[in-house]
Amino acid sequence: MARRSSTHSDLSSASARPPRPVACAGCRTVLVAGATCDRCGDEALFDLAQRRGRRSFVEQVWSETARRRFEQRNEPGFEDYLFDDSDGTDPIAMAGKWLWRAGRRRFLPVKPRGVSRGMAPPPHLRTFEGVVRRRDGIQLAPFSGRRCLAFGVLFTHLTSVWRSAVTLRDAVAVEFDIELNDGSTVRVPGGRVRLSLRATETIRPRARALREYLAEVDPLHARSEGLQPYPFQRVGEVLVRPGQRVEIRGTFEPMPDPSVAERGLSYRAAPPTILVATGTPWLRPRGRAPSAAGRG
Ligand SMILES: [Zn+2]
Repeated sequence: MARRSSTHSDLSSASARPPRPVACAGCRTVLVAGATCDRCGDEALFDLAQRRGRRSFVEQVWSETARRRFEQRNEPGFEDYLFDDSDGTDPIAMAGKWLWRAGRRRFLPVKPRGVSRGMAPPPHLRTFEGVVRRRDGIQLAPFSGRRCLAFGVLFTHLTSVWRSAVTLRDAVAVEFDIELNDGSTVRVPGGRVRLSLRATETIRPRARALREYLAEVDPLHARSEGLQPYPFQRVGEVLVRPGQRVEIRGTFEPMPDPSVAERGLSYRAAPPTILVATGTPWLRPRGRAPSAAGRG
């Protein structure tokens, strides 16, 4: 991956992203160990780094029927009796078995449970809108490898014949600022954020990127077979980049702006305080991400 070999020392690589081995069954958000889901509390959290926690979460994702069908798929079935072919060379028996299995896949599908894509921020949050400005760090998005200040990932899978639902959602930011229209600043600390996943771009993940990503959110993935905790048919990614307009909702605390003193500016020349987002801020990109990483 050529982009990973960037000479910029400030790039947060895949290994710098915090591992997020905890899954919330309520909204399928991935969380760092010890965290609570800001939307669902700690009601439905599963630690995927533990075998038992992972197994329990898989049972949330896959219904008993789906699990039974999955097991049956790997067992010799009725078709072996119907199309007796002891040498495995009879073309008619082979075609018959293939058709039988294809029919079973079509009419007895193994589909996961998902959750709805839309998620409204809690009410009574303050809302600001402004332009994203870079601070010290920048990171690489897990699938596209593009430089960004925050990325969101969405996995979706068909859960019925016509409906697809969310099986994983994720969003991580490095610290950045949002410059508001009046010149004041809102600071987003690095860590987990909520990012509107409406404008996700579908990505065909490379095997290596997928492996690295799954290691962050499902540590036992490489050693596990069978039904997966985060099944997907589509992977979507959304980015927040320098220069982009975003809307932010959250709770904020005023803090003296350290850069005012650092730059030797008088308090008259620059606003003395900034607003720092506390808890998990909700971000919604307005318009498309700028194509080149600005210097923000
Ligand atoms: Zn949740």
